[in-house]
Amino acid sequence: MPSETIKLTAKFKLKETPKGLDYLFSVYREIVNFLISYTHENNITSFYRLKKETYKSLREGYPELPSHYIYTACQMATAVYKSYRKRKRKGKANGKPVFKKGVIMLDDHLFKLNLEKGVVKFSTPNGRIALEFYPAKYYKKFKGWKVGQAWLVKTPKGVFINVVFSKEVEIREPKAFVGVDLNENNVTLALPNGEFVQIITHEREIRTGYFVKRRKIQKKIRAGKKREELLQKYGERERNRLNDLYHKIANVIVEFAKRYGGIALEDLTEIRESIRYSAEMNGRLHRWSFHKLQSIIKYKAKLKSVRVVFVNPAFTSSLCPICGGKLSPNGHRVLKCSNCGFEADRDVVGSWNIRLKALKMWGVTVPPESPPMKTGGGKPTHYKINTLHTING
Ligand SMILES: [Zn+2]
Repeated sequence: MPSETIKLTAKFKLKETPKGLDYLFSVYREIVNFLISYTHENNITSFYRLKKETYKSLREGYPELPSHYIYTACQMATAVYKSYRKRKRKGKANGKPVFKKGVIMLDDHLFKLNLEKGVVKFSTPNGRIALEFYPAKYYKKFKGWKVGQAWLVKTPKGVFINVVFSKEVEIREPKAFVGVDLNENNVTLALPNGEFVQIITHEREIRTGYFVKRRKIQKKIRAGKKREELLQKYGERERNRLNDLYHKIANVIVEFAKRYGGIALEDLTEIRESIRYSAEMNGRLHRWSFHKLQSIIKYKAKLKSVRVVFVNPAFTSSLCPICGGKLSPNGHRVLKCSNCGFEADRDVVGSWNIRLKALKMWGVTVPPESPPMKTGGGKPTHYKINTLHTING
């Protein structure tokens, strides 16, 4: 079985931030900025060359600092300089690259994470210190995962440690594919047994609710710090709500796909620029959400050994899945084939065509399809997930 690596980043907020940490942040920034200037002046994009040319003098300048901080500072400096060069080439950067953020990159020599106890140990100029952190929302799933790099990040809300977890998973050969059609208000699944399942997500209601809320704040409260803070607060709540929603949707999809071993999604990265995209995406998921939801489905599927394939989205909602004829609208959300007379809900058609495309892509000869028997008049059966909550405050 082929194996793949899943990488996920989790954010943990530190319960307390001792003064020594502030010192570490400022020293580290000083070093990264020195290194950035050095890469800039000498046009260095190689981490090894940068380390080779600067390590000795930095070691002498900061004898008390654990040496791996210098390594990671070299890594950060080369990354910052490379992205600066890229922006510069596009005419989007001017002046010198400077690093202003409170970020420290940590490798496995510099920290040790204890998930169970909620404690992280750091190497500092004053020796090892142990700090407690608040448990993150989904932290339990990382039990037994490999801990990779991490970043200490200073924000107005406190200091966070962002940790990259990775896990090797085996991906089975899929037996069949569940076609998944993602829309803003519903997600429709075409199952290999001919059934169609629709999850009503209420995403548009959630978005509209927060939109109205933001409008009210903008009307009632004068422009200023308080307004900004409130808008930010609700923006964050909206993102959290949608994130929760996407996790629930992805769980349901993977649960249905588990026994078949395959999920088919539309690949919408290629046609981003075209006009067809904007017409097609009108009324569909916001692009950001779409990618976010797809990436959650992808890793949740991998965790269950389920393969995810991406199909070309062309004509998935305009051609008949039975005979390939052209479909025309025939009433609210219903499409009808002018050739064979097949009629179904547009979401049923979309998910069905996505499933068929995945089969063809996978080299499976597709037998002639017959209209779904189990759904009344080409309508999907509805699957309920608990998504609607009221917006408080
Ligand atoms: Zn037809």
